[in-house]
Amino acid sequence: MSMTETSRIVTMDKIAALSKRRGFVFPGSDIYGGLANTWDYGPLGVELKRNVKDLWWRMFVHQRRDIVGIDAGILMHPRVWEASGHVESFNDPLVDCRTCKARFRADHLIEERLGLHVEGKSPAEMTAILREAEVKCPSCGNATLTDARQFNMMFRTTIGPVEETGTTVYLRPETAQAMFVQYKNILATGRVKVPFGIAQIGKAFRNEITPGNFIFRLLEFEQMEIEYFVKPDEAAEAFEAWIASMQGWLAHIGVRGENLRIREHDAEELSHYSSRTLDFEYRYPGAMGWRELYGLANRTDYDLTQHERVSGQDLHYFDQAENRKYLPYVIEPTFGVDRTILTLLVDAYDEEATVDVNGKPDTRVVLRLNPRVTPYKAAVLPLLRKPELVEPARRIFDDLNATLGVLLDYDETGNIGKRYRRQDEIGTPFCVTIDFESLEDQCVTVRHRDDMTQDRIAIDALAGWLAERIA
Ligand code: ATP
Repeated sequence: MSMTETSRIVTMDKIAALSKRRGFVFPGSDIYGGLANTWDYGPLGVELKRNVKDLWWRMFVHQRRDIVGIDAGILMHPRVWEASGHVESFNDPLVDCRTCKARFRADHLIEERLGLHVEGKSPAEMTAILREAEVKCPSCGNATLTDARQFNMMFRTTIGPVEETGTTVYLRPETAQAMFVQYKNILATGRVKVPFGIAQIGKAFRNEITPGNFIFRLLEFEQMEIEYFVKPDEAAEAFEAWIASMQGWLAHIGVRGENLRIREHDAEELSHYSSRTLDFEYRYPGAMGWRELYGLANRTDYDLTQHERVSGQDLHYFDQAENRKYLPYVIEPTFGVDRTILTLLVDAYDEEATVDVNGKPDTRVVLRLNPRVTPYKAAVLPLLRKPELVEPARRIFDDLNATLGVLLDYDETGNIGKRYRRQDEIGTPFCVTIDFESLEDQCVTVRHRDDMTQDRIAIDALAGWLAERIA
């Protein structure tokens, strides 16, 4: 089957099963029956995730002179969330079923049942739409849905030993606010001038009403965000430049273009802080369809204005070149880490019809991930578990490990065909096999994941050969 047919063969169930079987992602608290919508990254998932975060940091912080990083706390002063508008407006519209007690997001229900996009409409408007179309409970089929009402999505906790007298704080629902709160301190370090950005990678928490779709919608997730501060009259231009940068990032990590699109928010859908928002959408398998992968927003001077008002601090920027003060506008590209991982897995998943060693029809599952992101860059495999092959294979593994400085796998168990299949399934781009001939000619066989072709490479030249292909 060819790559273009991937969208037909890949399903979320296959991705979740492969993830568990191979150690990318496990259900959270699994031995206790799991905790709904929590997931843990396993030995391969953590490598994939680290690669994504490292590549992102390199592209947007290290390789640019106009962006600096921070790493802020998850707990922030509660007034931050008053200023940002989250206490007031970070709500989802919720409906309950009076019969079976199931709970739904009104906008999702309307989208699924009626195909209407209603994000941004009021609960009253959504209730009217649901009533008009006589929408029933998707779980039990009864016409017993409540009116839609607002539900704040921030997780709350208390600082202090006594709950009644403690301070209520929130787990941050986005990483962005720390950039606004620390903007003044960063300016004071004297290293940045408008236009400049502050980047952060970290956890965010949202009490989602209807999480699901594997790791697409989580209660606890990671974001990679940049707040990019610009002169107000240069915001439109900076916004356009960020569209291109975000597309460049997706190409860099190897997401194919055919299942990507950009969708502009209309006036009703815009968040309270935004004058223009685009969603980078990906077409996920099956019923999921097009969903937001990343977002890009022009947050104007909304956040700085609000933090000035609530904190009483002057957050104006003094532009020396123009000899005037102003509040910068902020362009915000935001990237969900977990949605990146999900997208990479879905986008790379392929099944190929082949025959097994006995000539029987068989399916080869291949993760066609870009070598930049794969957990292992290569696997070293002695053809058989014999001392005369195992010993040089381990030596080659150690040498490559020392010279390349990337993660490699070593595997001497089971037949070679099975070992190749395992590497295909986890995306390892190259398998290095040491056979009896290697002892004579000092060469190894390198097998390519994508087309299974093989090259014979001298052991001396192997590190250089691999470095060229996985850099
Ligand atoms: P959605 O409409 O899917 O709820 P959103 O518009 O609320 O998303 P943003 O507030 O723009 O999302 O969050 C920025 C990014 O963080 C998203 O583009 C997404 O990649 C990621 N993200 C948001 N919510 C979640 C979640 N519950 N689980 C995993 N990732 C998330």
